[in-house]
Amino acid sequence: MAADAEGEAAAGAGSGGLALLGAVPGAPCCPHGPALLFVKTSQGKDEGRRFYACSACRDRKDCKFFQWEDEKVSQTRLAAREEYNGSHQPPCTHRQNVERYKNFVLLPLSKRRFCQECQQLLLPDEWEKHLSHQFLSDISTAQLRSPSQLLYPLENKKTNAQYLFADRSCQFLLDLIISLGFTRVLSVGTPRLHEMIQSKASQEEDFRVRSLLLDIDFRYSQFYTEDEFCHYNMFNHYFFGGEAAHETCRKFLHQEKDERVIMVTDPPFGGLVEALASSFKKLMAMWKDTEKGGNKDREMPTFWVFPYFFESRILEFFPSFSMMDYQVDYDNHALYKHGKTGRRQSPVRIFTNLSPSVIVLPAEEGYRFCAICQRYVSSGNHHCEICNSCTSKDGRRWKHCALCERCVKPSWFHCNKCNCCALESHSCEKTNVGCFVCGKAGHKRSTCPSLNHSGTSLQAGKGRKRRQKTLKTLKRAELGVCKRWAMKYAVFSRRKTKKKKDTTP
Ligand code: SAH
Ligand code: ZN
Ligand code: ZN
Ligand code: ZN
Ligand code: ZN
Repeated sequence: MAADAEGEAAAGAGSGGLALLGAVPGAPCCPHGPALLFVKTSQGKDEGRRFYACSACRDRKDCKFFQWEDEKVSQTRLAAREEYNGSHQPPCTHRQNVERYKNFVLLPLSKRRFCQECQQLLLPDEWEKHLSHQFLSDISTAQLRSPSQLLYPLENKKTNAQYLFADRSCQFLLDLIISLGFTRVLSVGTPRLHEMIQSKASQEEDFRVRSLLLDIDFRYSQFYTEDEFCHYNMFNHYFFGGEAAHETCRKFLHQEKDERVIMVTDPPFGGLVEALASSFKKLMAMWKDTEKGGNKDREMPTFWVFPYFFESRILEFFPSFSMMDYQVDYDNHALYKHGKTGRRQSPVRIFTNLSPSVIVLPAEEGYRFCAICQRYVSSGNHHCEICNSCTSKDGRRWKHCALCERCVKPSWFHCNKCNCCALESHSCEKTNVGCFVCGKAGHKRSTCPSLNHSGTSLQAGKGRKRRQKTLKTLKRAELGVCKRWAMKYAVFSRRKTKKKKDTTP
């Protein structure tokens, strides 16, 4: 119960007076590895109170870890915590799961069962324990090759909502990877890409691409060896398998002469871009270190799959990245699919540090090459002469606003009060909340009778504040676009912090 508000607050890190300070040496651990340090600021105070919270779980039901930074933790509590962390690890080790798998594939089809409730492959001597559970039988080799189809996507769980690539997008990614000459893929939170690669590798003799999956979803350890899957937390760069798993990853990243490595990641969404960026930088550093100088001036090639409205955040941490127009589609998300054929447009893009000119997007889906921008753009993205760029972010044709001196969404118009472009229905000078100056309903600040309209400093000051507020509202509206995506991005989504009573003891 304690510190529920903080847990919620951690969830909204980056908004509402909360900031992520990041992974710090000596941080206490929860079952998901080292906790992250946050700071909670209250109005009027410079220094906020710092606390540790779970890096992976946004819902306190999934991990209730919380500790003030300056809190004294007794030896007894430390011991209890250690025991708790130990007891909250998966019941089987990865090694044990690999053994089980070996036995499982030796079984005749009729004896191959998968318990849907426990999400587990069952060996015959375990059937009894699962008799009351729903199970699938006759699990084929093909099914074993596609665990992402067999396993239930964790879409309702806030902790690691899973949105699986539609086959078309997955195939596109793989074709792109192959055409660019990569032979090793570090799949971070991309189980479906991993399985497509593994599946081809086991069936096609001349298929040379290999993949290592890093994911927090331990269910995958039932299907892959320790060289194919590492239980990993991408919010704190934590390998659950310790030094051995670290070494597996390091070995994988070490490229032989003719082998080129690329990292592909599709993380859950949230305000924790910096936590992700910090982990990716560590993976990149691992890659760099394996080369003994060969990669000194280069950055590990990367595809980071993420929504377009995070462009500025990603570029903040990775200035070498650029955003591709390609719209990534998902299987288990009905609302956002590719714009063609009347389906909705996906807001998810590929961010990469490879040269945009080499990322060839499929012409049959309408993408074309802009010779001036030297990159492939979506069919609706027109080159703006004034901006000298193909400016659309969402795939629709954007229009240039001379007053804003930039291109804006087609549905926006220039609001003279806000002095920027916005939706017609935007909330500038909301009448229903009353006048900003006197608080009375029925008029707006600009026509407030209590003002002489000569521009007092108070008015100017408040006007500025108001504008800032409106900008904030706009930003929120922008985020509103992705509300339906909150599921996929359930980890640390930007849900407004509930004003719950602080029950911290
Ligand atoms: N589109 C991808 C799946 C993306 S969904 C595909 O089809 O392959 C996000 C993935 O990130 C899931 O596989 C989920 O298990 C994983 N994930 C969620 N939180 C994580 C964390 N803290 N660390 C590592 N992986 C995580
Ligand atoms: Zn945790
Ligand atoms: Zn252009
Ligand atoms: Zn323009
Ligand atoms: Zn306005």
